[in-house]
Amino acid sequence: MDGCLFCKIIAGEIPSAKVYEDDCMYAFRDINPQAPTHILVVPKEHIPSMDGVTAENSAVVAKIFEMIPKIAADEGLTGGYRVISNCGPDACQTVKHLHFHILGGRQMADRMA
Ligand code: AMP
Ligand code: ZN
Repeated sequence: MDGCLFCKIIAGEIPSAKVYEDDCMYAFRDINPQAPTHILVVPKEHIPSMDGVTAENSAVVAKIFEMIPKIAADEGLTGGYRVISNCGPDACQTVKHLHFHILGGRQMADRMA
């Protein structure tokens, strides 16, 4: 997708700190971490947000959710972690390519918003 920041990161056109990659997803460290561990997991296919998830493309979301616990374990997040996907302006989504934040490494606030 032309002009999409995360598509450019997936393509290697913009550098990133890679955590994991396979044929359908890419995981990398958030450039502005909001917790000691802050990783973004994105499908390689350009899906604009959660609103773009359909029966045709949801398999990659399932694969991402299978991988997230493995990534968290590799990061040593034994105390737990939070997974967030911001969708649309009310949720402050800033990059219009579906992504899942993995946040951990400290006690999270008990309110999510
Ligand atoms: P969201 O606000 O949910 O759309 O999240 C977008 C996230 O992308 C934010 O947490 C940003 O810090 C992060 N981000 C923006 N540019 C980069 C980049 N070049 N490399 C890594 N993370 C980025
Ligand atoms: Zn994209």
